[in-house]
Amino acid sequence: MSTIDKNLTSFIDIADDSDFSIHNLPYGIFSDTVDGKRRAGVAIGERVLDLSVLEAEGLLSLTGGPYFDQPTLNAFIDSGRENWTKARITIQTLLSDDNDTLRDNADLQRKALFKQADVTMHLPVQVPGFTDFYSSKEHATNVGTMFRDPNNALLPNWTEMPVGYNGRASTVIVSGTDVIRPSGQLKPNADDRPIFSPCKRLDFELETAFVVGKGNNIGQPIAVNEAAEHIFGMVLLNDWSARDIQKWEYVPLGPFNAKTFASEVSPWIVTMDALAPFKTPCPTQEPKPLAYLAEKDSNNSYDITLSVEILPENADEATVICETNFKYMYWSMAQQLTHHTITGCKVEVGDMMGSGTISGPTPDSYGSMLEIAWNATKPVTLKGGETRSFIEDGDTVIMKGYSEKDGIRVGFGEVRGKVLPALTFYFDK
Ligand code: MN
Repeated sequence: MSTIDKNLTSFIDIADDSDFSIHNLPYGIFSDTVDGKRRAGVAIGERVLDLSVLEAEGLLSLTGGPYFDQPTLNAFIDSGRENWTKARITIQTLLSDDNDTLRDNADLQRKALFKQADVTMHLPVQVPGFTDFYSSKEHATNVGTMFRDPNNALLPNWTEMPVGYNGRASTVIVSGTDVIRPSGQLKPNADDRPIFSPCKRLDFELETAFVVGKGNNIGQPIAVNEAAEHIFGMVLLNDWSARDIQKWEYVPLGPFNAKTFASEVSPWIVTMDALAPFKTPCPTQEPKPLAYLAEKDSNNSYDITLSVEILPENADEATVICETNFKYMYWSMAQQLTHHTITGCKVEVGDMMGSGTISGPTPDSYGSMLEIAWNATKPVTLKGGETRSFIEDGDTVIMKGYSEKDGIRVGFGEVRGKVLPALTFYFDK
């Protein structure tokens, strides 16, 4: 699974720079305009392959089911790793050049292949729980430098554990969903009482999230060397954040309203099987983690190129404002999942676990406006001349990600969200 077979090609036209090569095959939930019915598909080039059709035709031969004539992927994911592997191999075979089952059946192609441009994507899973970590050393250092003490930017617990918080699954939304600027308590002046106001420091956070593929029983932690078996795949995540609400509310219990109005994810879940060829070690961990977080496999991260673009309302062109890589993350996904469950906390199939803002070592690789514009002291100039310290109404934020090796590309597509003006409240009128 972890090597790339360059000879594997598809009869479907796929551009060289497509995220959705035959080596990828990410899962999503889509509907078309005919009946609006949600079902599962995989992305291939500019197409979606309708898995509910293949399953109904008896071409997938999985254990149990049906799994794909469903509005979410939870049942398929819950059916276990053996089925994940079977499905991947079967779908890859059906799409390959040298298999005639789908290639030579025009009627089946008509029923099962759609243009991505013609379908609507939905949340790929029903999300029982959403957790967000804080696992980029560069990001944590930048935030600590800005708001606390440059000489002690990292708090002492940070290098000992993957710090995180429990978020709201109910506000995980799919790419393309508009985001209403949140309102809440802000405290612009240290000496005054807070005001109620639309957020004035609306930010994105460039993250990925992993999707839990196998849960645990309450009271039974997931061992770090078994954690990989519990992860189904990954998506891109824009963890929308209200910095001014956060600044006033976060002491002493951490993020609350600043983080629970929109956690926006890309629609295609890229599986860990598809990402396996792009494994790479996490940065050196010093001090050495406690035994329960010590992984045998040092090849515990992934080389995933990531970027953020801002497209202002009425602008002709988006501006890339960040280019970074998942491999900079200090804590691995296995360590995050193990730490999350070490007290016996139960995690469930479909749970999403955000990585934390992914910042690299240089200013052009910082994963939030807070860092890029350094707390509004260094505004960014966009193509067309507008400047930004935070995100304005009408702005669309676009995040992209892909892995590439030996000319083979496995990508995530994008997560895209537009900011709408804040609501008017009855007491404002
Ligand atoms: Mn976050």
